[in-house]
This record gives sequence, structure tokens and C-alpha cells, in this order.
Amino acid sequence: MDLDLSFLPLEMIGQVLQGLTFLGAAYFVLLSLSLVVWTWNDTSARSRDIFARLLAPLMVLVFNLPGLLLYFILRPHETLAEAYERELEAEALLQDMEERDVCPKCGYPTQPDFMVCPLCQTEVRRACLSCGRLLQLNWKVCPYCGQLLVPEELEELQMVVGVRDKPVV
Ligand SMILES: [Zn+2]
Ligand SMILES: [Zn+2]
Repeated sequence: MDLDLSFLPLEMIGQVLQGLTFLGAAYFVLLSLSLVVWTWNDTSARSRDIFARLLAPLMVLVFNLPGLLLYFILRPHETLAEAYERELEAEALLQDMEERDVCPKCGYPTQPDFMVCPLCQTEVRRACLSCGRLLQLNWKVCPYCGQLLVPEELEELQMVVGVRDKPVV
């Protein structure tokens, strides 16, 4: 009877310890798995390279928290969505710059009613012979009055300012 009574709590303690060990192990496995899943998602958002997308979760799976730390150091600092947004912004900026009038020779920003670049004195526009409105040098016809612009004269002007437009045939 005495032996039975003293055996019972010991067995219980053993069971409790076993249970705690199991819980601890389960917790560790779950934590590792969630770290791997998180890394997979994170690296997928940052890289299209399948090698990197597989390597990063594998590194975390093998090295656990130190692996995650390594991943934090090595991962691309931008997500693909952020990179795409930045590209769009750069494109919009470039388009904005292209649409703005600049002197073809020195790049100085000009106003739509400038005839000559105020900096290098390059002719940026000329007046229509018929209606007198200002026209861009590569225009072939006056959009205001329909006056055809003389091809030879145009060619000459284009050569002077180096406009990339092909000469009129
Ligand atoms: Zn200029
Ligand atoms: Zn005109």
C-alpha cells in the first residue's frame, strides 16, 4: 500500500514532464514552420528568382532564428510592388521632362512663346511666314493657318539646331 501511494505522484510528475516536453517540442516545430512560411511569403514578395525564394526558407528551416537574422541582412530591401511603384514614378518624371520645352542645344527650359534660347541664343521656334504665330522648328505645316513650310528652309534649320526629325522629302 505504501509503495503504491509513493509511486503514483512520481508517475504523474513523469507524465507532466513528458507532456511539457511534448508541448515544448510542438511549440518549437510550429514556430519553425511559421518562420519558414513567413520567410517564403516575404521573399516571394521581394524576388522573382526561384532559387532565392527556395534558398531563404531553407536557410531559416536549417538555422532557425539565426537563419532568419541572416535573411534579414541579405534580403532585398524593396518589395516587388515597391520597385514597380518606383519605376512608374521614374517613368512619369521622365515623361514630364520630355513634355517640357527645352532648348535642343543646351537643354535650358524654354517657354512656349520663346523664339530663341535665352542662354545659348539657339533658335527654338520661328514665326509662320503667313500668320506670324510661333512654330516649332520640326513642324512641316503651320497648325494655325495651314501654311506649308518650305522644306529646304526647314532642312537648313534642322541642320542648324540638330533636330532628330528626318528631313522632308
Ligand atoms: Zn540653349
Ligand atoms: Zn501660320
